Amino acid sequence: MSTAAAPMNARNRLILEFGLKIFAPACFAAAGIGLVMLYIVNAIFAEANSLDKEYTRRAAGAAVQAVQQRMENVARDNALWDDAVRNSYEPFNEPWAYETWGVGTELGLYNIAFIVNAEGKTIFSYENGKKMDKPIAAVFGNGLIRLVARLPQDKTTFATVSALFKRNKELYAVSAAPILPSSDAVSLPQERPNNLIFAKRIDGDMLATLAQQHVLDGLSFDREDKLSGDTLSLTDYDGETIGALTWTSRRPGDIARLKYDDIIKIMIGTILAVMGTLVYFSWRNFEEANASKQNALESSLRDELTGLANRRKIISKLTETLERHPGPIGGLSIIYADLDGFKNVNDTHGHEAGDELLRAAAKGFRRIVGDRGMVARVGGDEFAIIVQTPDAAAAAREIAAAMIELLSVPMTFANHVASLGVSIGLVDSFDGPADAEEMLRRADIAMYVAKSGGRHRACVFAPQMDSTRDEARLIADELRDALVTGSLDVVYQPIVDAASLEIVSLEALVRWPRGHARIIGPDVFIPIAEEHGLIGDVGRFVLEKACREAADWPDMQICVNISPLQFKNTGFPAEVESILEQSGLDGSRLELEVTESSIIENTERAAAAIRKLHDMKVRISLDDFGSGFSSIGHLRALRFDRVKLDRSLIKEVLTSPQALLLLRATITMAEALGLPTTAEGIEREEEIPLLRLAGCHQFQGYLFSKPVPAAAITEVLLGRQELKVA
Ligand code: C2E
Ligand code: MG
Ligand code: MG
Repeated sequence: MSTAAAPMNARNRLILEFGLKIFAPACFAAAGIGLVMLYIVNAIFAEANSLDKEYTRRAAGAAVQAVQQRMENVARDNALWDDAVRNSYEPFNEPWAYETWGVGTELGLYNIAFIVNAEGKTIFSYENGKKMDKPIAAVFGNGLIRLVARLPQDKTTFATVSALFKRNKELYAVSAAPILPSSDAVSLPQERPNNLIFAKRIDGDMLATLAQQHVLDGLSFDREDKLSGDTLSLTDYDGETIGALTWTSRRPGDIARLKYDDIIKIMIGTILAVMGTLVYFSWRNFEEANASKQNALESSLRDELTGLANRRKIISKLTETLERHPGPIGGLSIIYADLDGFKNVNDTHGHEAGDELLRAAAKGFRRIVGDRGMVARVGGDEFAIIVQTPDAAAAAREIAAAMIELLSVPMTFANHVASLGVSIGLVDSFDGPADAEEMLRRADIAMYVAKSGGRHRACVFAPQMDSTRDEARLIADELRDALVTGSLDVVYQPIVDAASLEIVSLEALVRWPRGHARIIGPDVFIPIAEEHGLIGDVGRFVLEKACREAADWPDMQICVNISPLQFKNTGFPAEVESILEQSGLDGSRLELEVTESSIIENTERAAAAIRKLHDMKVRISLDDFGSGFSSIGHLRALRFDRVKLDRSLIKEVLTSPQALLLLRATITMAEALGLPTTAEGIEREEEIPLLRLAGCHQFQGYLFSKPVPAAAITEVLLGRQELKVA
């Protein structure tokens, strides 16, 4: 359930992060750009509308002025005229005036024509071809009187005036001019001139013409003054509003908007599409970047070779689990496994073979663990497993057993067969403060105990292991100092010929005098030296010292114990050679005692080492035969020079007939292979005849001598001191 929810959540988080980091800013940007663009386009259209409004208003004004100007021109043409002076003053020529101006009203050149004298009295008036006989104020109000009054009142000055007037809800353009002679041929018969007035109704036809001339669609005179919209308000001579001209607004901005509407839509669509594409590809990139980040993270937590989790991953997983369940928890166990004999495969068959083995082991472990936990490779040939089930402790033991079982079968790879094993440490969740490193450390200690307890087994962590471990570390530190200060020593235990009981060889045994501190025997500190990487130094020290001191004891064979780790080192034969050279000891006087564990993992390599040592005439004896492993196979496969029978074989020969039988069988077998035998640990005289009968060639034991310092050996060999022999 939780595994299904986790990737969902991760995806949701990814989407949220994308939304916040990329999508939302992109949308804001797009919306911002879109709004600004729309605003600009709208502003342009609105500006176009208002500019056009201004232009048409000016055009309308110009149209009105043109009408007035035309009327003033008509007034000028008719009033500044000699004939007009001749006929329109006393005596007034009515028929002429009618023919000249009255007919004009009928023809529609203008609608009304007046002649008023200097006092403002109407002396002639026609409207639309009909005599009217009305004072001008009755027709256009006092405004017209005031307009006419503006004209000059003398005989010589000519001028025209004009204005708009409303009459019967209709608009008129009115002009006036004094009737004056145009030449000197006529003179004005009175002091102040009469004035000629024309009024032209601005009717629909006229407005249509104006509209055409001034490009003003639907131009009309609206009597109700509307100040809003596209209008030009009109005033009469007195400044009174008399109505307004209105026309249909062209609103070019709106036209453009209509025209460009599709383009704008396409543009917005394109922006959206581009944004969409950008967002899409950004999402893809984002996803990819996230995936590769995730990959990098995962591979940093994965062991490349086996594909298992690595140390970092298992620690983080363990930490997470422990943090989620503070305090003691059941359902959690750790397995720490170390392959036995892996290094050997790696050294002899190469890294590729080693890698193959690791992969095979990883695969097997993973199959065994299944969904009960997580398997990780935490070091070269070390694996850690978190077992997480309700019955984790039992499951962990079962898994450990299956792992041991798996590796108990020799593994076949690339035409080779490797016999591996696995040492396993187990730790169950425990009370008290626990962190991941500590749990792993405890599992590791338990693994170490399993390994030193003979390998290929599992051990469950117990608190006392910790103290053993701590003590071992302390001993290792002290031993390191002892090597530096040269405080190690070598003692020698004589080995006697079975028949003559004369000393034939001496076994060198390392000693560590520790002043007042507890004496620690080599059976304790040699394994510690092996584990802490000190065995090379210890071994070299003993070998050098023994070879050097052996020079004082001619004819004596000198036996030196060699640790498996020392012996497995491919440089070991060369080291022996150089020590022999330095000490001047002949190779034939040196015998190296090796145990079966030196050869068990790689017989071929052991055989090669023995060959090289034989080339130097150095002999090799198999030590502690009869204890632990003991395989005739090894005896046959390798060219040993001697077999040392372990004390455990001798110990019971006096009391157990079966032990005696076993001893005899072993000696017979060695003899069959042409190998002389040395019996170790002889403490009682009674053992001697039995061993002689069994065919044993040499004896070694406290009965003859305990291991003693070199000086004591010298004394014995010089005959000054007797061997303690029965
Ligand atoms: P080992 O090689 O089997 O040596 C014989 C051990 O048996 C010696 O113990 C010796 O003191 C002891 N021993 C001899 N005769 C008797 C006897 O009659 N009764 C009893 N109970 N013990 C007897 P030691 O010196 O304590 O050495 C123990 C083991 O430590 C050795 O067993 C050997 O495996 C290892 N060792 C000692 N010195 C060295 C060394 O220089 N290098 C290496 N690699 N291992 C060493
Ligand atoms: Mg020995
Ligand atoms: Mg021994």
